[in-house]
Amino acid sequence: MKYKSTRGKAPDLNFEDVLLSGLARDGGLYLPESWPQISEAEIRAMRGKSYQEIAFQVMSPYVCPEIPEADFKGLIEKAYSTFRHEAVVPLSQLDSNEWMLELYHGPTLAFKDVALQLLGHLFDYVLTKRSEKITIVGATSGDTGSAAIDCVQGRACADIFMLHPHGRVSDVQRRQMTTVLKNNVHNIAIEGDFDNCQALVKALFNDLEFRDKIRLSAVNSINWARVMAQIVYYFTAAVALGSPDRKVSFSVPTGNFGDVYAGYIAKQMGLSIDRLIVATNVNDILSRTLSGGEYKVGKTIPTISPSMDIQVSSNFERLLFNIYNGSGADVRHLMENLKQSGSFIISSEQLDRAKETFDALRVAENETKSTIAEVYNSTGQIIDPHTAVGIHAARQIRQNKSVPMISLSTAHPAKFPEAVEDVTGIHPALPAHMADLFDREEKFDILPNDLGALKKYILDHL
Ligand SMILES: *Cc1c(COP(=O)(O)O)cnc(C)c1O
Repeated sequence: MKYKSTRGKAPDLNFEDVLLSGLARDGGLYLPESWPQISEAEIRAMRGKSYQEIAFQVMSPYVCPEIPEADFKGLIEKAYSTFRHEAVVPLSQLDSNEWMLELYHGPTLAFKDVALQLLGHLFDYVLTKRSEKITIVGATSGDTGSAAIDCVQGRACADIFMLHPHGRVSDVQRRQMTTVLKNNVHNIAIEGDFDNCQALVKALFNDLEFRDKIRLSAVNSINWARVMAQIVYYFTAAVALGSPDRKVSFSVPTGNFGDVYAGYIAKQMGLSIDRLIVATNVNDILSRTLSGGEYKVGKTIPTISPSMDIQVSSNFERLLFNIYNGSGADVRHLMENLKQSGSFIISSEQLDRAKETFDALRVAENETKSTIAEVYNSTGQIIDPHTAVGIHAARQIRQNKSVPMISLSTAHPAKFPEAVEDVTGIHPALPAHMADLFDREEKFDILPNDLGALKKYILDHL
């Protein structure tokens, strides 16, 4: 498979180079040149197959034969052996024809494990084959950091430096990162906020000399392989509920637009999806854009669903490329406007195209809380605040009750215990493999919000 940049000015790459490079050299994101098609008969034949088998079937057109089929199967097996549920991502029922897809059974308790566990094995495979080594630097406000650290800890192919804002992530989130004591893991608490951390990482990527010197690489959600791995569970969930003979809809709590965009791809590949609901918290740039057509960056507001407290939604650029008929020039033009004025406007024809598939809703904090309570009272299930945003939007927007509605549950409630306890009175317990999290030794260094200090730290610790 060949991959093209959304801005049309970077060279086409193959899968392995897309995996390692993350961002294209023209600032764009990589997408496959075409959508592989999966026929109705093939989808019907997925019934009864394991997650791993369906994962291979959905992803292999993007990866093989560049990576030989047998090798890729092996990587998939290893990646999902770390999940605590046999089904990897089980479905549970909330109400009549209303379901929840539990994506949080991986090692760090958020859906990001589904993609990052595979990414770790892909990096290892490709870099070992090439006898190369990379340096991963990332910034996290919570879930990405621990999932990325878990997927590369102890591997010879990579060092990882993860920046978090000092004193501004939850205790569970911090300890999930800082109690990993492997030599190739370097946790840095920056004296600043998340935006400062992200700005430091961006500055490193823009310093081309330093970037090449340490072979800098990214694991954030702009990496195509992450989006690709998330397509799979749209298939497994839809097939379990009767696809292709029955359409299904999904509601997806959204920040960077990676997860819900994977659902859009599943539809392009032939899965019969009725609606995709883009559920945001009060950081609602995506719901505003999809209703009015104007993409306008606002100020980030802290919420009880912090992993969606985002104003610039990187993966939205991929959808723009699709609704503008693959025109890199049009995407460049929109991104230029964004850079200059902090906004751009989507033409009505293109917006209509997006609306053929997507609905969107902004969910207020009190609605998130009341949904946690409602679900607990009616089912006894404890859900996390991100999941609650998706379920609330699903219940508001859902029109056709004969179409199964699947809300994506993106985090285990024990990751956000304060918000959950506040509403239900119950302190959600960490799963057994993490029960001693608060007794474990922590290792991290504190650095000022200063690029020079960060560079020196990285060079000293490589
Ligand atoms: C990252 C994250 C999201 C948002 O996912 P995107 O792909 O950025 O839209 C939602 N919920 C949780 C728990 C997350 O960690």
